[in-house]
Amino acid sequence: MRQKHALIPTLRTVSEAEMISHQLMLRAGMIRQLAAGVYTYLPLAYRVLHKVETIIREEMDAIGAQQLLLPALHPSELWEETGRYANYGPELVKLKDRHERPFVLGPTHEEVITDLLRDEINSYKKLPMSLYQIQTKFRDERRPRSGLLRGREFIMKDAYSFHADRTSLDETYQDFYDAYTKIFTRCGLNFRAVEADSGAIGGKGTHEFMAFSDAGEDLIAMCDSCDYAANTEMAEVVGKAEVQDKEPAPEREKVSTPSKGTIQEVSAFLNVPVEQLVKSLLFIVDGTPVLVLVRGDHEVNDVKVKNLFDASVCELADEETVRRVTGAPSGFVGPVGLKEKVQILADQAVMELNDFVVGANEIDAHLMHVQVGRDFSVDQVVDLRMIVEGDACPRCGGKIHFQRGIEVGHVFKLGTRYSEAMNANVLDPQGKEQPFIMGCYGIGVSRIVASIVEQHHDEHGITWPMEVAPYTVHLIAVNMKNEEQAKVAEELYQELQKARLEVLFDDRPERAGVKFKDADLLGIPVRVTVGAKVGDGIVEIKCRKTGDTQEIRVQEVTNELL
Ligand code: ATP
Ligand code: MG
Ligand code: MG
Ligand code: MG
Repeated sequence: MRQKHALIPTLRTVSEAEMISHQLMLRAGMIRQLAAGVYTYLPLAYRVLHKVETIIREEMDAIGAQQLLLPALHPSELWEETGRYANYGPELVKLKDRHERPFVLGPTHEEVITDLLRDEINSYKKLPMSLYQIQTKFRDERRPRSGLLRGREFIMKDAYSFHADRTSLDETYQDFYDAYTKIFTRCGLNFRAVEADSGAIGGKGTHEFMAFSDAGEDLIAMCDSCDYAANTEMAEVVGKAEVQDKEPAPEREKVSTPSKGTIQEVSAFLNVPVEQLVKSLLFIVDGTPVLVLVRGDHEVNDVKVKNLFDASVCELADEETVRRVTGAPSGFVGPVGLKEKVQILADQAVMELNDFVVGANEIDAHLMHVQVGRDFSVDQVVDLRMIVEGDACPRCGGKIHFQRGIEVGHVFKLGTRYSEAMNANVLDPQGKEQPFIMGCYGIGVSRIVASIVEQHHDEHGITWPMEVAPYTVHLIAVNMKNEEQAKVAEELYQELQKARLEVLFDDRPERAGVKFKDADLLGIPVRVTVGAKVGDGIVEIKCRKTGDTQEIRVQEVTNELL
């Protein structure tokens, strides 16, 4: 591509963007905002997207998943079948057609794919079957301010698998898990899979793939000594209950009057040292049971306490409720340390969290009337709720530390949640009807592009990994007015293209300084500079990432780059 005629509107500065990937992609002329969370992918970004999609397609095809394309416009009746038309929450984009018939713009496609398969597949003999699509999704996100990291319109790869038994689901889940590992590795991401919140839906069968980055909205607890890693999102069981309180929920009894303060104020109020507070949950103050939740970062004895809840004090209605909510045995007088609490809960085996909200990840995944022990394991809920930097790992006792991450992928054993609701059945070997057992597997395609930029940049611009770079070679003619430079550059351009290298040729009549600044910003991995030494038959090759340069004879360039 000749840069003179390319749509790559670079900018020296941008004001509105917070995230580095957002800034750099705006500056590199890759994206432009049309509305909050709605972006145009300019040609450079589209090339990267296409490469990421190619990687995904190859790895999906390799595990036998078939690509299709489902509609983005869904009749609301489908969503009513699963209850999500009412429950998905404000992220669901709803609209009406000219006949006033309600539709939604798909934020995800469990309903649509289940509808297809219930009509087309009726015997276990066709199973397992995996289907995927790469498509624009719509979610009216609350804070779409991070560029491609959180769009209201964004590109997702979503896959769905259908099975006649759990063993088959487990196998396919593992295939997807492995394929995801290959995909994110090929994209050049530094990432890891972590245990995610499953609420009561799929038992322990859900993992998120997290790209490490301080720009990430998720906080991952990781063990120094074993492979334990979990998203602390799943700790927000009680915290989300407070949020839910603000919406009318008639079936819930009001159990608490939360009041909030700084951790010091709460500490003074309860007459409990701060360090005990952050490790504890339940106190009895003057005979009144009190629940303390701590949020935010606090320095306690030089230990940074991260991602706990805002210090809030809930005076609970009665001790019975406290017992139910916290799992403390009746007559128990606090404070309770984290580890004792886990023990108490484990001993009690079943703790009812009736009326509390579980599965904090997505609005529709918040479940009411869930039982700990029956619907999810006790330590899974509790261990992260009050965990602090340096705490013991719930699996091996090693040290826990925290790191921020961007959720780039999510795999989930759905079980029969959708098939049961939608009456989607197959005949089993005994000729009996049973609901499909399902899995779903998502990847944020456009989010990956931004995540790569978050991880691959320096003070001058982006430093694309080779496999996803928009072009692999940036050929620069330093001075297009110099006939020899222009001629050699033009010849090299033809030659490199013949060799099937992807070349961006900076043939603009710009000053050298402008060209080099832009080249650094765009971050194409290899730069070939045709400058003053071309008279001696010499050009320069530079690696964008390391800055390593090498002078080389013009005739050797193509061979060197192949
Ligand atoms: P998040 O927790 O970031 O809101 P999610 O858990 O709601 O994401 P999923 O429903 O698991 O997202 O969707 C599958 C994948 O789609 C996610 O793992 C993520 O990579 C991507 N994704 C989700 N929401 C967005 C968005 N608003 N913009 C870009 N990518 C997104
Ligand atoms: Mg999430
Ligand atoms: Mg979300
Ligand atoms: Mg998710």
